[in-house]
Amino acid sequence: MTERRCAGCWQIKDRKDLIKITNAAGTPVVNPNSTTFGRSVYLCYNKSCIDAAFKKNKIEKFLKTSVPSELKGQLLDELRNS
Ligand SMILES: [Zn+2]
Repeated sequence: MTERRCAGCWQIKDRKDLIKITNAAGTPVVNPNSTTFGRSVYLCYNKSCIDAAFKKNKIEKFLKTSVPSELKGQLLDELRNS
């Protein structure tokens, strides 16, 4: 089991229970396929964790890249589709 820490609530969870966001050459990609490599950050499938991560600019800090405002909508789409 691969465990990762959520950047919103800071709890450790199984990788499959978290949304992955990877810095793909400067562009944050939500749940990328296995051929995308880069710095990654993880969030629970939970709106409060997404809100917390955006409020504190955690995604930008972890990925070391600027995060477009559309990313939050993409993450909320992942919640709806999960
Ligand atoms: Zn969380």
